[in-house]
Amino acid sequence: MHSLVLYCDEPLWRPASLVRLAGVLQDTGLAGSQKDGEGLVFAAGEHFLSLVTFLGCAPQISLTEDDAVHGQPVCRIRLHDYRAVQLLESQSAPALRCSRCRSPQLRPSEPDYSQQLSCPACGESSPLFRFDWRRSAAFGRCFVEIENVFPHEAVPADRLMAALELLSGCSWDYFYLSH
Ligand SMILES: [Zn+2]
Repeated sequence: MHSLVLYCDEPLWRPASLVRLAGVLQDTGLAGSQKDGEGLVFAAGEHFLSLVTFLGCAPQISLTEDDAVHGQPVCRIRLHDYRAVQLLESQSAPALRCSRCRSPQLRPSEPDYSQQLSCPACGESSPLFRFDWRRSAAFGRCFVEIENVFPHEAVPADRLMAALELLSGCSWDYFYLSH
C-alpha cells in the first residue's frame, strides 16, 4: 500500500475534535462522504484532483469504486489520531540525513521525536523530528493519509495545506508512506 500523508510540523498537535478536521477536509472538497463502518475513512471529494496535484501524464487513479477498473485501487482519505506521538515510517526508507549539511545519520533503534541528536559531520544539534526523513517518514499525533498514491506521484496543493494550517496554527508538510 502506498500513500501520500500530510502531517503537522508540530508533532504534538492534534485537533480538538476529529469531526472538525474532517469538516475542514470536506469543506475544501478533498474529502467526500464518510465510508460506513470503516472508521475515519472518506471517499475522495469533488475537488480532490485540484487539491492533490498529480505529476506527469494521466495517472491511473480512481476516485470511486464505480470508476475503478477491476482490481484498480481507489484514492480514499483516512484520518489517524494517536494519544502519543508516533513515527509513521515507510518500509525500506532511505537513510536519515542532517537537515543542515545533508550527511547521512545513524537512525536510532527506538526513535523518539524529542530526542536531541548531534550531527557528527557538522555539529548541528536538533530534536530527531527536525532531521531530514527524506519524505518517507514523519512524527505526529495526527495524520491525513491519502491512500493509493505512489511515492512522488502527487503533491498536495498549497490551498489544501493552507486550510490545515489555518485549523492548526502551524505549518504542514507531507511524505510518502509505503507499507
Ligand atoms: Zn550535519
